[in-house]
Amino acid sequence: MNENSAGVSVIGLGPMGRAMAAVYLDAGHRVTVWNRSAGKDGELLARGAHRAATAAEAVAASDLTLVSLIDAGALRTALGDADLTGRVLVNLSSDVPGQARAVAAWAAERGASYLTGGVNTDPDGLGKPESSIFVSGPEEVYEAHRPVLDLLAATDYRGADPGLAQVYYQLNMVLFWTAMTGFYQAVAVAQANGLTAADILPYARYTADSMGLFYAGAAPAIDADVHEGLAERLAMCAASVEHVLHTAADAGVDTGILQAHADLYRRGVEAGFGADSSSRLIGLLRAGAPAAPGAGR
Ligand code: NDP
Repeated sequence: MNENSAGVSVIGLGPMGRAMAAVYLDAGHRVTVWNRSAGKDGELLARGAHRAATAAEAVAASDLTLVSLIDAGALRTALGDADLTGRVLVNLSSDVPGQARAVAAWAAERGASYLTGGVNTDPDGLGKPESSIFVSGPEEVYEAHRPVLDLLAATDYRGADPGLAQVYYQLNMVLFWTAMTGFYQAVAVAQANGLTAADILPYARYTADSMGLFYAGAAPAIDADVHEGLAERLAMCAASVEHVLHTAADAGVDTGILQAHADLYRRGVEAGFGADSSSRLIGLLRAGAPAAPGAGR
């Protein structure tokens, strides 16, 4: 077998972990895999991967172990009794930045070197140079393992703080999940009007593709704390958002998300920002949720 000398272990064989293991098999690495439940490693074993009986055995089998589990808590559960001395763990599981830092400290107490990763692609995008992964943690650990990690996707090193990769990753997820939910909301309204997802797809793509230009246009003024309502006034935006809400309501579709959205824009106008840019809403968001009626009495 033409195995690359640097072995890689993969812990967690959901769609992501399986795709990661496949990338390293393609690259000729010796790959060891472990998953909590049986039955997910068949294809990988057929391609030459080795099955570890326990997560601890998987960690012992390679210098570098990639972890792709549901969250950081699952990592601690899976590796609770593993000897991590001198091992290198790269945790590519999603979680909040605080958990990424806590797991980094937990791993360091056990003698492991530790990096956090946030994967900016679906499993199909792994192994492709146009895909990316945020990485943070000790720079020397990153540099030592960068060539192997770059096989998964282009790594984007964000700094020594192990929480930073998850800060950047979760920011992308704010944009991703709100956009997906927006798409589902639009499809629900479309269907209630006798249209299909395919009917609206060209227009949805056009709008999604144009968002980058809106972000790029707004970011410099936001960072300069300038909120002039030149091309778009918040009062106009609030009226438009009401039209969106009522189009959904008239179609008999759930309006919970759109109500929350309209409430935010209304608060912006009520706060006196009607003539300003809608970027004023960032200040309202940063101030936290408004007190519930009757709260604090
Ligand atoms: P899945 O939910 O399909 O797989 C989760 C894995 O975690 C499974 O191997 C599961 O084991 C394991 N697991 C869950 N709880 C425990 C536990 N307590 N102890 C041990 N193992 C546990 O996730 P994906 O493979 O899709 O994703 C993995 C990570 O990658 C997630 O953090 C996800 O947010 C992130 N990600 C996923 C993307 C995607 O498109 N799928 C894109 C970008 C990031 P079992 O099989 O036994 O249930």
